Parts: sequence; structure tokens; C-alpha cells
Amino acid sequence: MNKHDSEKIAGILQDSGFQYEKDLSNADIIIFNTCTVRESADGRLFGQLGNIKRLKEEKPDLIVAIGGCLAQSYGGKLLFQFPQLDIVFGTHNINRFSYLLNERIKSGNKVFELKSEDNYDVSCLPTLREKPFLAWVSIMRGCNNFCSYCIVPYVRGKQWSRSAYEIIEEVKNLTLDGVIEITLLGQNVNSYGKDLNDEMNFPQLLEKLSQISKLKRIRFITSHPKDFDNETVKVVAESEILCNHFHFPLQSGSNKVLQDMNRRYTKEQYLKLIDEIYRMIPDASITTDIIVGFPTETEEDFLETLDVVEKAKFDSAFTFIYSPRSGTKAIGFKDISSNEEKMNRFSRLVDKQTNISQMKNNYLIGKNLDILVEDFSKKDKKMLMGRTKTNKIVNFKGDSNLIGKIVNVKIILAKAHYLIGELKIN
Ligand code: SAH
Ligand code: SF4
Repeated sequence: MNKHDSEKIAGILQDSGFQYEKDLSNADIIIFNTCTVRESADGRLFGQLGNIKRLKEEKPDLIVAIGGCLAQSYGGKLLFQFPQLDIVFGTHNINRFSYLLNERIKSGNKVFELKSEDNYDVSCLPTLREKPFLAWVSIMRGCNNFCSYCIVPYVRGKQWSRSAYEIIEEVKNLTLDGVIEITLLGQNVNSYGKDLNDEMNFPQLLEKLSQISKLKRIRFITSHPKDFDNETVKVVAESEILCNHFHFPLQSGSNKVLQDMNRRYTKEQYLKLIDEIYRMIPDASITTDIIVGFPTETEEDFLETLDVVEKAKFDSAFTFIYSPRSGTKAIGFKDISSNEEKMNRFSRLVDKQTNISQMKNNYLIGKNLDILVEDFSKKDKKMLMGRTKTNKIVNFKGDSNLIGKIVNVKIILAKAHYLIGELKIN
């Protein structure tokens, strides 16, 4: 969601005649679009602001702005804490960025705006997309779930679904602009439409979008186990262009911890949903998010998490150590494990998941898979990089004119986090 918001901010600036500048020391405006989900994100920003202070001393006309979730959470006090900042704007003020920038340029004063109304729409704003053939499409904003560890509902507001008609029109227009793959975005896509009257639900929206001609792939993140239903799996199973990848955050495998987290599903319900996905789509890939060291987590609770990891056979997992966030319910929970215990659990989890990821990728060796070629490989600029429908990264040798195209490759080598393929010449 933050990346998508950044594309909007860049689009606004491009529309006002600015150009993207890679080298910070040559830039006239520097904007930080921030995350505050974990403390480490805050720390990284504060480090960056230190570097910017030096740049600003050398170039006093430089304008430094900060937006996104951290700006929403800390508010105007950032301007006092960091004198190098010129503009602070909240998560609901992106559509006002052009105005705020003009204010700063005209008046020379520092500018600050945090609106807290929940309904705001950025979809009509210009977008500077990184790749002409890929696009994010936000189908909803905010979140009503209030998982006890999570700051998102406080900084992004209540759930607010966009109208299905608008989403479909946006996607049609994107295809006219050359987009062949879209990723639908929402904190909990399965509750799409529940805040609207007479709207489509999520599987119905997927079905409608899958009928748009010229569109080759549709992805969606994030699925929430409490609202996930078999209807969504059925629609994905029946469509050629709906990608067979589900990002399905587990968070914990212990029923006690899940309850303390306010996730509203049990380990058994979660595993049943996974079984159903694999039953209806045997080659589906399932990825997850897991938090280790939640304040009430014991060693036995952690073993329950390892048990789910073993049974669910995730393709990959984002693993996090619990980070206390001010204002959330869990901040009041007594922490029963030491940092050492948490680190130990974390590395056991990562080791287990890495072995499973490797095993699942080994199974793909020798298979021919369609990949959408996105770019040169980050690891080796002589190679290209693309993604399978299951969202696996494949690196292979090929000509740069393949970027933006779907090609068929044979998988010849598997690593835990990526695959190596060979282009099939038809
Ligand atoms: N809406 C998505 C997730 C958004 S945040 C969902 O419900 O799945 C992305 C991930 O960050 C979460 O899935 C969770 O695993 C992690 N996360 C959120 N708050 C955290 C915290 N306080 N400490 C550690 N990890 C956290
Ligand atoms: Fe945070 Fe839970 Fe909402 Fe995801 S569903 S954004 S983890 S509160």
C-alpha cells in the first residue's frame, strides 16, 4: 500500500513538472513515505533524517517532506524534533500534497496537515508506475480488525471499500495503457464490500475483473483467514488469469496467542482452509506472515506455530519478532519471554521454513512454467527476472526485449528463495 501511495505522490510531482532524481544530492525535493508497523521502520527513518540534515546544511533551498504512517502517528511534533523537515502530511492527505508543496514554496513556512476523515480517494490522482505493464489497484483502504499488536487501524483509519464500478473502470483504463498484470490491494481483501450496501463481495469482484480483455494476470493481497471463504478459492480455480497464489497470514499457531492477538480464527480453522486451497488448487502457492515473541507466547505456544508451519507447507514466510507499538492493546500485555528466547525461536522458525521453501522449490525442477518478465535480475544483471503465477521469482538468460512479456521457461535449479530457468524456444 505504501509503495502504491509513493507512485501517487511521484505522479503528482511529475504532473507539476518535476522529474525523478536518483541521486539525493541533486534533488530539490526529498519525500519520505513512511511505514511504522514495526519499530525498526521508525529507526531507519530517523537514521535517514540524520543524513538529510547534512544535505540541507549544504543546500538550504532543499525541501524535505514526510508522509505515510509514521507521519500520521507522530504528527506535527516531527517538525520540532527534526528542524530539517519542511512538510509533514498524513496518510489521508496525499491528494493535498501539491497544495502543501505550493504553500511551502510560496510562504517559506513549514507546513503540516493531518486530516483524519476516513473516506478519501486517491484513485483519481496521477500515478508514476515503475513498470508500464504492472499496476497496483487499491480496492479498499484502512482496516477494522484491530489485531492487538497492530498499529495499522490507528494510522490508516476505518475500512473503506471503493465502489466495484470504479475499480472495474480503473482496471479497464489500465489495460488500455498497456498494463497486463494488476495486484489488488487491501489490508483484508476478503472483507471487501462489507462496509457498503448492495456491493459485490470479493469473489464476485474477482470474477468480474477476470473477464476484462487484455488483462493477463490478477493478484491480490492480503487474505485474512477470518473472512476467507471457499468461494474465493473456487473463482481462482476456475479462472486462467487469477493467480494461484494466496498470501495468508498465520501470525501464530497457538489458539491462546491467536485469541490474545484478536485474530478471530483457530489453528484448526486455519489448517482446514489451507487443506481446502490445496484440494481445489493442488499447484497453489501459499505464503504467510508470522510473529514470534508475542508477549503471551510460551515455548509450547511457539511449538504450535512450528507445527502449523510443518503441516501447511508454506512456499515462503515473512517472519517478524514482535515489536511493541504505542497505542495498541498488546502494549499493556506482560512480556513473558526474554530477548534471547525470542531470537532463538526466530532462528528455529526461519530454519524450518527455509527447508520447506527449498523442498517446495525442488519439486519444480524440470517443470515448464509461464513467467511474466519484469526486469534484469538484481543478483546478476546479465540475467532477466520474472515471476510465475504462483509469485516465485525465476532468473534466466534472455534478451531484454522480453521484459513485459510472458514467456515459458524450464526450471533447471531451485534455491529456497528463487529459481533458475532456461528459456524455451518455440
Ligand atoms: N493486513 C495484513 C497485514 C498488514 S501488516 C494482515 O492482517 O495480514 C504486515 C505484517 O506485519 C502482519 O501480517 C504482521 O505479521 C506484521 N506485524 C504487524 N504488526 C506487528 C508488530 N507490532 N510486531 C511485529 N510484526 C507486526
Ligand atoms: Fe493489522 Fe490485523 Fe488489520 Fe492486518 S488485519 S492490518 S494485522 S489490524
